[in-house]
Amino acid sequence: MTDHDPEFSRRTMVAGATAWLLYNVAEQRTSTVWAAGQGHAAPPHAGNPKFAEEATRLAIESVEKGWGGPFGAVIVKDGEIIGRGQNRVLITGCPVYHAEVTAIIDASSKLNPKALLGSDYGAGTMLEMIPRPDGSPDRVPARAKMLAGCEIYINAAPCPMCMSAIYWSRINRVYFGASLEDTSAIGFDDAFQYEDFRLPWEQRKNVSVTPNFERETCLKAYQSWTNKQDRHPY
Ligand SMILES: [Zn+2]
Repeated sequence: MTDHDPEFSRRTMVAGATAWLLYNVAEQRTSTVWAAGQGHAAPPHAGNPKFAEEATRLAIESVEKGWGGPFGAVIVKDGEIIGRGQNRVLITGCPVYHAEVTAIIDASSKLNPKALLGSDYGAGTMLEMIPRPDGSPDRVPARAKMLAGCEIYINAAPCPMCMSAIYWSRINRVYFGASLEDTSAIGFDDAFQYEDFRLPWEQRKNVSVTPNFERETCLKAYQSWTNKQDRHPY
């Protein structure tokens, strides 16, 4: 057994999460449904293995049908699955067709009745505004709730794109089984992306980035947003 053994990683993760939960209960801390990124991440928590099993089932289906890599995800709200996703890069030829993004799109289509989109501040949809909690450093007083209060179960560690999608969607908890090292071991390499992200723009190793290109021109779009009186923060 090694640190790269998925079952070992999973059991270690669950044991660690349980310890965290007990610690937080002992401290009588309460979680919040506000987003990570504003300093209010929910504490780690003992997850439900059946959702990891469903994420894995989706991943295996994708492999067996030739749709994509061995990656699956489910989004859970109040103990129910509201979104499923699986990697479909091979059936679409689209490099960003990842399980987590697909699950977020699936959950969004379920929670956003089309007839309600475009109504006053998205009442009844994920665009409905929720106020920032007391003590949040967020400069915006309220934001769209998106998937606040939801959890995502993934059979593998999210790539940076999917982790960003999770932040954008305001999902509060992430559970994953296989580590980035496990993923590298079967020939998928997203660990380098996490390393590249730490470097300044001009020093990125895998892509040439030119920051501040025509900045004044580009900032006109930001002025348009700032000038819009009824803008909807999200
Ligand atoms: Zn991804």
